[in-house]
Amino acid sequence: MTELALEGVSKVYGGTDATDGGTVALEDVDLSVRDGEFFTLVGPSGCGKTTTLRTIAGFEGPTDGAVCFDDREMTGVPPEERDVGVVFQSYALFPHMSVAENVGYGLRFRDPPAGMGVDERVADLLELVDLEGMGERDPESLSGGQQQRVALARALAPAPDLLLLDEPMSALDAQLRESLRRQVTRIQSELGITTVYVTHDQAEALAISDRVAVMHDGRVEQVGRPQEIYREPATRFVAEFVGDNNVFEGDVGGRNGEYSQVAIDGETFSLPAIPDGTDRATFCVRPGALSQAADHNRLPVTVETSEFLGETVRVNGRWNGRRIVLQLPDVPESAELTVGFAPDDAHVIARD
Ligand code: ATP
Repeated sequence: MTELALEGVSKVYGGTDATDGGTVALEDVDLSVRDGEFFTLVGPSGCGKTTTLRTIAGFEGPTDGAVCFDDREMTGVPPEERDVGVVFQSYALFPHMSVAENVGYGLRFRDPPAGMGVDERVADLLELVDLEGMGERDPESLSGGQQQRVALARALAPAPDLLLLDEPMSALDAQLRESLRRQVTRIQSELGITTVYVTHDQAEALAISDRVAVMHDGRVEQVGRPQEIYREPATRFVAEFVGDNNVFEGDVGGRNGEYSQVAIDGETFSLPAIPDGTDRATFCVRPGALSQAADHNRLPVTVETSEFLGETVRVNGRWNGRRIVLQLPDVPESAELTVGFAPDDAHVIARD
């Protein structure tokens, strides 16, 4: 069993803080990953995902704070003594070794699980990643998805306590990504191994994870189950990055039991109750929650572009200069339309 905790972890490259020219990559990051969990770090480029993963693996030491596996503080423990399997974006397979030799490489430094010979372990892993019979092949003769599965088998060979995956699918085309994604989640749940996965793709993060941490500028904005992150974003950044939400800000007017009124540019919107003592509110509405049929909270939108996505059409438009994103069943017939949303479909953002 392995639980992972980051406690107040900061990382500054090339200095001690921003004032002496250092790059602050992580700032006071607290995370805890449960035993057997599939946990994903998601955020835009440069937000600190890879640095977090490298700090867990021991390739980087934190400037401040601690990394603990179960209750053991890992500061100063070198990567090879951490019992961690790592898969990078670039497969980093050894080209002069066969597939089986690549998988067996991880066992040069650590024994296979008790009672197993190296050949038996390698054969088991090739079967696990659906590459049985391919052990003698040259890695370069495999497709990108197959090479990445070899890299995964190599990382898993010594039966590590923790699996770390850094954008392992980003070099693959969309179809391969999806099939590898299914394989990775199957293997992870079969082995029950605690896994930390890094991606900048929010849809991928929501699709495959037990829980997700959304990162921004070296900080953790929110940790939660995919449904929570999607439906109840804690910050404006999460609302915009994850759900492509429409975010609005206005003055809180009357309160009426379950609902509160918020005024924006002279229009009044009815929203779920906002706590007393707040006179400004930020709230978000998902593109799919705005509909021409809704009779509440209506606003006129000028259509700018429409993108046909198959089942739905994504419409980009404006309301009083604000960008509005809609998800409609059909391409709108007119450049001017009125949409609305049910009060319960709005989510009030607690922290802005
Ligand atoms: P990406 O998705 O582009 O890989 P990321 O979220 O993984 O980005 P990091 O690679 O962790 O982000 O980088 C976080 C910040 O730290 C960035 O500003 C980056 O430029 C900086 N950084 C990362 N590695 C180093 C390094 N070795 N030396 C100096 N600065 C670094």
